[in-house]
Amino acid sequence: MFLGAPGAGKGTQAKRVAEAASVAHISTGDMLRQEVSAGTPLGLEAKTFMDAGKLVPDEVIIGMVRARIQQPDARSAWILDGFPRTLPQAEALDRNLSGSAALSHVIYFAVPESVLIGRLSGRRTCSKCGAIWHVEHQPTKTPGICDQCGGALVQRSDDRPEAIGKRLEVYRSQTSPLLAYYRDRRILREIDANRSPDVVYKELLKLMQ
Ligand SMILES: [Zn+2]
Repeated sequence: MFLGAPGAGKGTQAKRVAEAASVAHISTGDMLRQEVSAGTPLGLEAKTFMDAGKLVPDEVIIGMVRARIQQPDARSAWILDGFPRTLPQAEALDRNLSGSAALSHVIYFAVPESVLIGRLSGRRTCSKCGAIWHVEHQPTKTPGICDQCGGALVQRSDDRPEAIGKRLEVYRSQTSPLLAYYRDRRILREIDANRSPDVVYKELLKLMQ
């Protein structure tokens, strides 16, 4: 599981590492956004919470993760990205995953908060393939157009300046307690993620061997 504040680079690295290692990348945020845009029953349920500004209930997300890890591409191994975000979610995940399906490593992406703000405010996401770009640090050849697929780049609503402060505050109060939780379980490893994506990527591959 990749753990860290919003903007720490978890999503970018999870995509890359999962491809290189042929393991499934399970991004609960991407999955929820897909369910909502496809209008599935789960998406419709999740949307009622999201529209009300509430967190999607743990059972809904855990059900989604459980179903996902049973798919053929996820049988051997997977990277969990964006979940759990709170202690109750971590405990619920532990109850629901056991034996060979349990978490083996939690990798904490350490990045100073001032750096996170710059990363989040410049981040753009491809509306078609989900690739992640940055207006300064990782620009596309044509502004607003994905290099990989030609799709239009969008700024996620939660990457807008007014939402960023709130997300970091939620991270500090609700997600950072997970560090102690996983440290106690002796599966936490920390990586200095305030470096270039290529350097972080190489270190991740070493950690995961
Ligand atoms: Zn794209």
